[in-house]
Amino acid sequence: MNQNPSFTAETASLPMAVPASMASTWVPATLPSLVGRTRAGLIAALAEIGVPEKERRMRASQLWHWIYQQGARDWSAMTTIGKDLRMRLAAHFTLALPEVTSEQMSTDGTRKWLMRMAPTGPHDRGAEIECVYIPEVGRGTLCVSSQVGCTLTCTFCHTGTQRLVRNLTAAEIVGQLMVARLRLNDFPSQLGAHGTVPRNDDSRLVTNIVFMGMGEPLYNFESVRDAIEVMSDGDGLSLSRRRITVSTSGVVPQIAPLGQDVSAMLAISLHAVRNDLRDELVPLNRKYPIEMLMQACRTYPGVSNARRITFEYVMLKAVNDSDAEARDLVRLLKGIPAKINLIPFNPWPGTRYACSDWDRIEHFSDIVFRAGYASPVRTPRGRDILAACGQLKSETEKLSARARMILDDETRSNGAAMSDPSA
Ligand code: SAH
Ligand code: SF4
Repeated sequence: MNQNPSFTAETASLPMAVPASMASTWVPATLPSLVGRTRAGLIAALAEIGVPEKERRMRASQLWHWIYQQGARDWSAMTTIGKDLRMRLAAHFTLALPEVTSEQMSTDGTRKWLMRMAPTGPHDRGAEIECVYIPEVGRGTLCVSSQVGCTLTCTFCHTGTQRLVRNLTAAEIVGQLMVARLRLNDFPSQLGAHGTVPRNDDSRLVTNIVFMGMGEPLYNFESVRDAIEVMSDGDGLSLSRRRITVSTSGVVPQIAPLGQDVSAMLAISLHAVRNDLRDELVPLNRKYPIEMLMQACRTYPGVSNARRITFEYVMLKAVNDSDAEARDLVRLLKGIPAKINLIPFNPWPGTRYACSDWDRIEHFSDIVFRAGYASPVRTPRGRDILAACGQLKSETEKLSARARMILDDETRSNGAAMSDPSA
């Protein structure tokens, strides 16, 4: 629903084609979308279009129901909302979602979507992120991105080679879940697509969310917190917070707030048991070394044997996979209610690492298993489509300051020419 026909995603990527309307004040290509907003965001939208204050909460609940419970894609579907208000909403807002620019399906059923976000300014061609759906028996996990790229530079991670472009908004994070559920026909309003059998919550296709896509979620704390609030709301998308896991490379100061304000499950990307090695693999360790990280885990609000912290450990051949390291790992986690996830390293073009041999992983896992940690090896999923952990990377690169200057200059001169009626 492009409200401004002279401006499309394609023209946005070409400096010469930037339209006059963007000269001084940039005009977005489309109206803002309501999908992905928090309740407060919906109430604010209703206030913007003049809905009386005493009605706003009730109207927001109606919108909430249609958007998040029913997956409505059209204003006309919102039959509990009067026609007048629907028309006013349609004149000011859309129900747009991130655009899927490519979909790949692995031989194991894993799906990877490349999603393009709406442009945020004249020099933004619409940032792209990746989102992966992993079906398993009895559950389906959606791996969402929290940032476009990453500021951290973990040496074994593909995303780490892409510079940070920007943080995603809460709506853009929720948008990934909405896109996935709609693509999978996972809303009750899409029943027809599944046949006639009514489906309840238990038969949902997306049952779990992991913040393990692109980006460091704890560097985008507010958006991640708000997105989880929307995803876990019982009247809407209704995913239990116990089924939402936030994975961090170890942003220590944000760990306690995550437990307090969000009460999501925590996963720590540990990958090494000594500071010298972790400094190299996860450079953030130089700022927040292992001891500090472990202390934050010991005191994580809500941690218990029923709510354990997951420690992720990528298996890198001849780097971190010795028996001694397995024993040190067990020692390090002593006293912390923990699960250990051994992740076979997923290779990507240009990497200097290799995945540990299978018998090495088995030895390592045996030691961990004997210490009381069950089924610790994560089966790689979607490797054939580069959808596995750490393989995600989009082509979106931050424009250099110089490129942005040229683009802004073009915008200005185009604008000047176009505002001249004789031009
Ligand atoms: N930035 C967050 C979340 C995204 S990374 C974090 O680092 O935790 C999600 C998980 O994939 C992390 O545990 C990360 O260490 C792991 N990972 C990164 N690259 C990988 C690779 N090439 N193979 C296997 N796991 C990888
Ligand atoms: Fe960023 Fe996580 Fe990759 Fe490290 S492992 S570069 S924190 S996405």
